[in-house]
Order: sequence, then C-alpha cells, then structure tokens
Amino acid sequence: MIITLAPGSSEATLAQVEAIAARFEGVAPRRYSFEGSRESITEVHLIGQTRHVPTDPFEALPGVVRVVRVSTKYRLIGRHDQAEASVGFEYRGVSFDDCTVNVFAGLCAVDSEQHVQRMMAALGGAALRTTRMGAYKPRTSPYDFQGLGKSCLPWVFESAGKHGVQVVAMEVTDARHIEEIEAALGQAGRPCGVMLQVGTRNAQNFELLKQVGQQKTHPVLFKRGMGITLEESLNACEYIASEGNPNIVFCLRGVKTHLGEPHRNLVDFAHVPVVRRLTRLPVCIDPSHSVGRRDSGPDGIPDIVHVISQGVIAGATQILVDFHPEPGVALCDGPQALLPAELPRLLAHVARVRQTHEALVAAWGG
Ligand code: PEP
Ligand code: MN
Repeated sequence: MIITLAPGSSEATLAQVEAIAARFEGVAPRRYSFEGSRESITEVHLIGQTRHVPTDPFEALPGVVRVVRVSTKYRLIGRHDQAEASVGFEYRGVSFDDCTVNVFAGLCAVDSEQHVQRMMAALGGAALRTTRMGAYKPRTSPYDFQGLGKSCLPWVFESAGKHGVQVVAMEVTDARHIEEIEAALGQAGRPCGVMLQVGTRNAQNFELLKQVGQQKTHPVLFKRGMGITLEESLNACEYIASEGNPNIVFCLRGVKTHLGEPHRNLVDFAHVPVVRRLTRLPVCIDPSHSVGRRDSGPDGIPDIVHVISQGVIAGATQILVDFHPEPGVALCDGPQALLPAELPRLLAHVARVRQTHEALVAAWGG
C-alpha cells in the first residue's frame, strides 16, 4: 500500500500515518521522498501483510492525497494510478520528466579530442545542454575499439563545461567506472554532470544495477535489455530505485531479432505509451542503435529521423542520438552517425513533432 502525502506535508502528518500503520501486525512503514522537477512528493509505503489493512483511516487524514494498493512488482518506479503525476527529476538545472524534451546528441564513442571539441561546439551553438559521450565501450569483439576509458574524461568534461553542456550520458560497465568519473569530475571542478548509462548488455547485471542505485550523485539512463521482456527490464529499473536512486530515465533502443533487418534492431517505440502507463519514469528513445544506419526514405528523411518522430509522437521526451563530425573515420558506429551540421534541422523537427504530440493529446482530452 502506498500513501501519498500532499506536497510540503509536515513531520506530524508522517507520524500520524506511521502511528496508524503501527496498529497492524506484520506491517512496516517506509518513507520515500522524490525530488521531482516540478514538485517533491513524499510517500509512505506499507511493507508486509497489508491485504487486511483498510485504506480509510489513512484517507481520513488531512494531508493525505491518495492511498493505493499496489502489487509489489514496480513499487517504486510504477505508476499506480493513472492520475498520478510523473515526478521526474532535475539535474544540473535540466528537467528530466514527461513534458520536457531533451536531446542527448553526441558521440557513440569518444575517439579523439578534436572530434569531441567539434561536437561540443555544435551543441553549444544549438544551445543544447545534454549530450552522449562513450568512454567505456562494451564491444562484441575484443579486437574492436574499446573506448578511451578514464584518460579522456578530463578533456571531455572540460569541453562540455566550455560549451555550456550540463549533462553527459556516459555508459559504465563496472563500479570502477563510476569512481573514475567521480574523481575526474572532482578534479575538473565539476564543469558538467554525468548521467550514468547502463547499456543493453548489462540490463540484468544486478551488481551493476545495485551500484548505480546505491549512489545518488548521478541519475541513471537505463537501456532496455535487447533480448529480455519489457517486464524484466522494468524490474531491473526497480532494482536501481530500490537501492535508493529514483532518478532513472528508461530508454527504448530496439530489440534483437533478424526480423528488424535491414535495421540493426527491431524498433520498439510502440512501447513508449506502455512504459509511460506502467511507470513514472521519463521515457527515452535511441533511434541510432535501433536503426543502425543513416539511409533515407524517398522523402529525403533519414530512417533515424522517422523513428524519432514515431517515438516523440507517442510521448517520449528524451532522445539519445549518435552524431560524429567525421563518420567515415569514427571508431565505433560511424554508419549510424548524423552530422553536426544536421543538428539544427533535427532539433526543429523534434520541436514540431512534440507540438503535434501535445495538440493530439489535447484533442483526445488528455
Ligand atoms: C550505446 O548507447 O552506446 C550503446 C552501446 O547502446 P546499447 O547498450 O543500447 O547497445
Ligand atoms: Mn554505439
């Protein structure tokens, strides 16, 4: 059972809720607070045998806005009531929620200082505050470029700061990477922040999920497992939240099957409304890793941009997209990279699709 309190509720209200809970044997109250991008929410979760606990004594308390019975499945990330707001979160002055669009445009893998600088300059020119930069790359072959690792962090962070980029999405595959990122940010004077990315290959690496969940400094961008069910991926996010970090973005990136060919993966953005319905997490799409190639349709629009439209029209607000100033020499995923010169047109496209999404929601009475 989850008891949601009105924003700004007092300690006395919390104590009253806990006092009522104490009347029932085998029930333990646990407090949770979510620092949202628009408002903060405090909840008391009753853990244990709650089936026979009535909701009305809690509902009668002033300051209680809602009492819902929940299955234990997605206790923390779940949207238990469709009327419930998606709280989201704020990080480095950027809002991550279900009504603020953020485009994380950047390099799949950091391969040279010059490429990073050219990309960051393009981001600064477009006033974008979010990017993606891979330093630790999980590659299929051990002979492929593995990423520059911690050696690139000082100049990646410095360049981000110089161009006003606040949040760098960066994949980590080991707890050691979190420490290296923390140390490099500290040494650079924190010119930007890092959103820790859990890649599709680590979607069920429970130790890594616990590690990113146990720290609260960095939000987490979780990428759906490519060969597991949506439910399994959502449970993985619940792991992160249950360790203490509720600041999670859920990213769809296609699923692995040859039925998606000629695309790299089968695009799964039809799941955007499903994830929004089941959870309170801001939903991200990765059109680059799902499509995997920069071919265009006869309309001149790249498939990557078409699927961005599909995700955004369906309600995704976060977009992770690969760019590279010289795709031909990129050491990782060059064939799917867009060019920095295409960034302004892409952002204008996203803004138009988002406006249409909002108009459609209004037309359907949402
Ligand atoms: C990436 O975004 O760089 C990446 C490796 O993606 P995924 O984990 O979805 O394959
Ligand atoms: Mn990649």
